[in-house]
Amino acid sequence: MLIFGRLLIDPGEAPERGWLRVENGRIVEMEAGDPPASAGPPDLGGRDRLVCPAFFDAHTHLPQIDSVGCDGLPLLEWLDRVIFPAEAWWGDGAARSMARKAVRRMAMQGTCGFAGYLTSDAASARSVLDWIETATPMRMVAGRVQMDCGAPDALIREDRERAAMRPIPSPIVSSGASQLQEGAPSPRAWMSANPRFALACTRELMAEVGWAREKHPGMFVQTHLSESPDELKAIAAMFPESEHYTAIYDRAGLLGPRTLLAHCIHLSDAEWALLRERDSVAVHCPGANVFLEAGLFQLDRAEAHGVRVALGTDVAAGPDIAMPRVARGMIETVKVRRMLTGETLRVPSPVEAWEMITRRNADVLGWHDCGRLGVGMAGELLVLRLPETWMDDHLIGRLIYNWSHDLIEHRVFGGRVFEPASL
Ligand SMILES: [Zn+2]
Repeated sequence: MLIFGRLLIDPGEAPERGWLRVENGRIVEMEAGDPPASAGPPDLGGRDRLVCPAFFDAHTHLPQIDSVGCDGLPLLEWLDRVIFPAEAWWGDGAARSMARKAVRRMAMQGTCGFAGYLTSDAASARSVLDWIETATPMRMVAGRVQMDCGAPDALIREDRERAAMRPIPSPIVSSGASQLQEGAPSPRAWMSANPRFALACTRELMAEVGWAREKHPGMFVQTHLSESPDELKAIAAMFPESEHYTAIYDRAGLLGPRTLLAHCIHLSDAEWALLRERDSVAVHCPGANVFLEAGLFQLDRAEAHGVRVALGTDVAAGPDIAMPRVARGMIETVKVRRMLTGETLRVPSPVEAWEMITRRNADVLGWHDCGRLGVGMAGELLVLRLPETWMDDHLIGRLIYNWSHDLIEHRVFGGRVFEPASL
């Protein structure tokens, strides 16, 4: 497949006209200028089109796709009244249709890969993982949510039953995600263990996830850390022996380079230092943080401690499923903090924010051949149709602040043109 247009190879530079060829899922040729006449007419693109990498979402919840906008509740109450009922519904047969809706909406906005949570219902989780892997071109880091306390019986029953069966081996990897273990035929899908957060997991459950992580170093761990002030109070009461929140996960063996920790808003210096030591990833979800009034992520502290940061939608607490709007949220969070505190904070540029939702998120999710254009890279890209007047020094800012899926003319996912409505 021959694609022609302005190639966004480095978002910090003006994109020049060029062409690339995608074969068997990868970019096999890429050159500046017009395509050679011998190649025939391009399959996609045109002189005024922009060709850029597709996006990656480092934190989302597929079962919550229809729960966006249930406003007015703090985190713990929102979970009880909105989210837990929605997730229980998955176990009652809604899983496949809801997953289809979630994947369609992500793909519609140009997202070709995500790190996500399913529900705790193993059968529906397995069915959804199989469907995404076989019927869609999406990349995923995904797994069944694990929780065995602090939630309705329908959601914690499976993990409690597994606990009763111990020491039958590997209750964690026997979730649907086991089919995505290292050695699976395609690296497009990574297995992840998803203990929801410390308030919904006993020490035993978290320790088992830690054990599984040790046995399966390719496995990702996804959880939430230090999101809201109410949550912190409940954590202190439930884990009085722990010096801080992050230490609870560290003691259980959950922290490593493939551990994705959503939020990380209220961390102490000691906690940031611990995350750096374990090389774990803080996943910033700016839309969700404002929606639940959880707090404002401190990007400067993450950077000062050398902790890797990724960006996520966190649907449904995050109202926006489009990654360029999440990138905008990251910039706005720093601007708001700077106005409120008067501190000298460096505001990330649109180019930096764009790199987060492409190359840097892809790296964090283990897809180092994604999020960039180049020979040998995966064919995960977008062809955008933009006003000609946007092709100036502010191109990336214009994209982030004016984002609409209407800008996308074609999505090339897995090396093929993909139309979300076809799912
Ligand atoms: Zn979340």
